[in-house]
Amino acid sequence: MVTTAILGFPRIGANRELKRLQERYWSGRIPEATFSQGIAELRLNHLKQLQSLGLDIIPSNDAPEYDAMLDTTLMLGAIPERFGWSGGPLSRAIACRMARGQAPGDQGSDGAAALEMTKWFDTNYHYLVPELSPRLALQWADDSVVRRYREARDAGIATRPVLIGPLTWLRLGKSDLPDWDPLALLPRIVPIYREVLGALWAAGAKAVQIDEPILATDLDADTAAAFARVYAQLQGDGLPAITLATYFAPLADNQTLVCGLPVAELHVDALRGGDELEFVAQALPASTRLSVGIIDGRNIWTADLAQSLFRLQAIADIIGSERLTVASSCSLMHVPVDVRGETDLDDELRSWLSFAVQKVEEIVTLGRALKGESVAVALAHNAAIITGRRDSQRVHRPAVQQRMSAANSEEEQRGAAYAQRAQAQTKALPLPLLPTTTIGSFPQTAEIRATRARYKAGEISEADYRAAMEDEIRTVIQRQEAIGLDVLVHGEAERNDMVEYFGEHLSGFATTRNGWVLSYGSRCVKPPLIYGDLERQRPMTVDWARFAQACTDKPVKGMLTGPVTMLQWSFVRNDQARQDTCRQLAYAIRDEVADLEAAGIAIIQIDEPAFREGLPIRQHQRQDYLDWAVSCFRVAAGSAQVHTQIHTHMCYSEFNDIIASIADLDADVISIETSRSHMELLDAFRDFSYPNGIGPGVYDIHSPRVPPKEEMQELLRKACSLIPPERVWVNPDCGLKTRKWEEVEPALRHLVGCAQDCRLALAQRS
Ligand code: GLN
Ligand code: ZN
Repeated sequence: MVTTAILGFPRIGANRELKRLQERYWSGRIPEATFSQGIAELRLNHLKQLQSLGLDIIPSNDAPEYDAMLDTTLMLGAIPERFGWSGGPLSRAIACRMARGQAPGDQGSDGAAALEMTKWFDTNYHYLVPELSPRLALQWADDSVVRRYREARDAGIATRPVLIGPLTWLRLGKSDLPDWDPLALLPRIVPIYREVLGALWAAGAKAVQIDEPILATDLDADTAAAFARVYAQLQGDGLPAITLATYFAPLADNQTLVCGLPVAELHVDALRGGDELEFVAQALPASTRLSVGIIDGRNIWTADLAQSLFRLQAIADIIGSERLTVASSCSLMHVPVDVRGETDLDDELRSWLSFAVQKVEEIVTLGRALKGESVAVALAHNAAIITGRRDSQRVHRPAVQQRMSAANSEEEQRGAAYAQRAQAQTKALPLPLLPTTTIGSFPQTAEIRATRARYKAGEISEADYRAAMEDEIRTVIQRQEAIGLDVLVHGEAERNDMVEYFGEHLSGFATTRNGWVLSYGSRCVKPPLIYGDLERQRPMTVDWARFAQACTDKPVKGMLTGPVTMLQWSFVRNDQARQDTCRQLAYAIRDEVADLEAAGIAIIQIDEPAFREGLPIRQHQRQDYLDWAVSCFRVAAGSAQVHTQIHTHMCYSEFNDIIASIADLDADVISIETSRSHMELLDAFRDFSYPNGIGPGVYDIHSPRVPPKEEMQELLRKACSLIPPERVWVNPDCGLKTRKWEEVEPALRHLVGCAQDCRLALAQRS
């Protein structure tokens, strides 16, 4: 029989209830019991909602309190020594400390450093990185998965519990023992998984979902070989049937391996691995079911149900419909909860969107169609939406299309090579050695945010809003002058978010009211939507930059978000290639660069903090991405004249494997995050002999701490020993919008002081 399933549902709640609960609990405003009860209710609501939507297979344990990788770490008792766990049941306090470095009530104490956090594959969700070592006292230490299964069961809902698989958990962990392979832990953790699976079976679970997304990455031979061994050990009498889930990328070389694994069902991502679907269907043993992830868990467009049905039918013809499951491509946690919350969008645009709840409806409709039930009305309605969007004039703008087809590679070239540009810029813009600057934003005070909100709500006039922002800019400029910075910024007070701000100024973009997606902890992001051809209607930043420049004799740096980052941090249209959308963004920024320059702005920064995260998961797809991403950046910067200095900024990045492309961007100056890694990132730039200017961050802005001047000096000295000082800039790691003035002001004074001292030292040496 055809069944329907999702791999996971957003846990944040339709109104971010999870965030509120977490923050109240962490700050001690509610006791632990209230928190427990609150999240149990939230979980139960989701289960009931899925049940009432008519979904066959409802996941449980897909809503961790903090993070599913952390839950797996807790389950396996892989608790690093510094958390002081000595066996026995794990308290929520320990889990909190591992996640956040602090449990409610821990105030003031130094605490143990939290686990590191990093991006979950190519999503914007961050997981907590397991710390692996042979010393870990591994044992089944946390039974949340069983408790959550029972909780649902007792409410009358049969669920399929979700676990992260042992190989993904191990391979996403880190170890600092150079000659030790964490796979050595397998013989100790597989029995724990067996124990857990046995307990789930005993509690009534007939099936489980085990996620092994590393099957969609390039595997080393040992890991690949371990799969068959591990999964043979996880099946048998008295254990639930396993659905093994892969997603996010094609299986590529792992296709044959995956199809041969001894599991009851295989789940594949039919969007990212669509070309492989038929091969998999054919290669799968007759006893194995196939779960086809046909509804996109990574994007928000209403699915073309007729087309989906056509593809599903083709698979059913191969394997027989009794072996088919219709599913979401991955967990729905990467999309917002419910389109019905988007009351600000017009009906047409809203009809194009499908968030988690709507995606479940789509899956259920597809399932009913395949079961032979009549869904003619739903399909007709869907077909009208799909054709409406395809033919809409809001999507297709002839002027944009014309410009794209006339694009030529000349537009990617600055007027001269870096060396010549550097000379022209020095002449146009006398700056000291080791110039000091910031990355763009200054503290966003409650007052600034309130002013923006009131303006948005129509409570204050445009003129009043403008005046308030100009006041802020004036103050920010004065403060920077007083601190003694060399290149100033306007402070970005008018920007709620570095992508959304530009989205609001480009046609083809829409912003949502409630389209939140979890990023980490209680932090959610609200990516704007790109639904149509992108066109700049008028200058977006020029007035603010011009005003700021009029307040000072020092150069003010114009601030733009780059095309790749805008693409990466938005929900992007699915009716054209990503690179085509990126190119449209690039032209919009290109025009803004030209306008800033014409308004007398001599330095323009084009931020690309998401440049690296756009890198495809699969090695064989990377160069293609890097080529078009570099080309788009160069189009954006390419309108600048030789004497205009183009900066870019990247943070949280590993540069080693993409350094050639970073150099290809050919920005005159790049600022990067380096302070926390003690300038280790700079090694890549040195080894590559990176030719242009670099501003390695010397001030870690992720912490409220004010680093002493000596500490920054140490970092700057190190930077100057790796990179010729003539090309070194001095700046923080990133923007300062999340910090307070009390921290920023002294820290920047230290930064300026440290640059001055280093200049003196360098002058004495020569
Ligand atoms: N210019 C932006 C800021 O300073 C850059 C932010 C970022 O890198 N994420 O806020
Ligand atoms: Zn940054």
